[in-house]
Amino acid sequence: MDEIFDVIVIGGGQSALACGYYLRRAKLKYLILDKQDFPGGAWLHSWDSLTLFSPADYSSLPGWLMPKSEHRFPFRQEAIDYLRKYEEHYQLNVRRGVEVVEIKKDGIVFKVLTHQGALKAKTVISATGTWGNPAIPKLAGIEDFKGLQIHSGKYKNPKDFTGRKTLVVGEGNSGAQIVAEVSKVTAVKWSTKKEPEFLPDEVDGYYLFNVASARYKAEKEGKPFDASQYNLGNIVMVPSVKEAQSRGVLVSSGTFDKLYDKGVIWHSGDKEEFDAIIWCTGFGYDTSYLKSLIDIDEKGVAKTSESKSLEMPGLWLVGYGNWTGYASATIIGVNKTAKQTILEIEEFLKNSN
Ligand code: FAD
Repeated sequence: MDEIFDVIVIGGGQSALACGYYLRRAKLKYLILDKQDFPGGAWLHSWDSLTLFSPADYSSLPGWLMPKSEHRFPFRQEAIDYLRKYEEHYQLNVRRGVEVVEIKKDGIVFKVLTHQGALKAKTVISATGTWGNPAIPKLAGIEDFKGLQIHSGKYKNPKDFTGRKTLVVGEGNSGAQIVAEVSKVTAVKWSTKKEPEFLPDEVDGYYLFNVASARYKAEKEGKPFDASQYNLGNIVMVPSVKEAQSRGVLVSSGTFDKLYDKGVIWHSGDKEEFDAIIWCTGFGYDTSYLKSLIDIDEKGVAKTSESKSLEMPGLWLVGYGNWTGYASATIIGVNKTAKQTILEIEEFLKNSN
């Protein structure tokens, strides 16, 4: 307990490893704490058939490229293997199986409370991602539904849905990819708020990242940017989605705002029975353990300027999305945020010594 780290990073996914790379380079005394026993962050939990949206060389952390994949886009397991090897390659100081439950300020240091005891640090980086905070709308009757209900964050493969009439909810990439494979083993309907929109075949994650970067740069420089060509939130035509579209299964059945014991009540008032519902309705941010330190809203968002907490000197939040650094929730995007964060931490430590 007497040992004081310069930096404790909470989380052991891609964001924490990117920070680890720069912390190691800055020769700071750091420790990364991850509650999971294995490297891979949220990728460990994604569904079996998930592939990245970008080729390997556009899905890399600082310093060491993701090895080339045999496929156009690396499989989920290749991302997990890369993160494990990256951690080993740079011998990052990661302690696994340690869950941080709360952080308190103790004089000028942070007291990081875990089930295995408390640790002390001069600064803290929160890099706990989104997977631990799945979002499901609070619809009337949701408790009454007697069938199987899971969030996409827990979905693994279509096996459990064989022969069970299934409703998939949510018009994003997760919804489209899950409809694509579940519709091969059972009858599926797809509930979306707006008509799903698909990107042209040639537009992949690499392209989207470049367009989004150009838009961000233009906004920062106050220059006009024609963003009308593609909506970056539209669905990427990965092979499984392309195949499902050719079968005509990617068609929206519209919305519902009520459930009952056997299914849902559509906007039209019609009732329809389902055996299972898969909620592809996104995530909040897994930051609740920071609640005694700073204000966290109901989605898990804190007040930040890029990654730096505006409320708590010495605290940074990395990898949650644009609010903590542009594109920082992607493997390639977190690089810039991690680099800037460690520069700010070095400055902070210099000024507080
Ligand atoms: P995570 O990977 O979630 O890691 C957080 C870690 O923190 C976990 O290991 C967790 O166990 C740990 N943790 C949480 N709470 C605590 C605690 N209290 N104490 C200790 N440890 C804790 N990104 C891309 O770059 N390319 C893609 O193609 C891509 N495709 C995606 C497809 C889908 C369907 C989804 C949902 C996401 C995709 N992403 C993609 C985004 C990417 O997977 C995530 O944004 C990424 O996992 C974020 O990394 P992270 O390190 O910030 O968080």
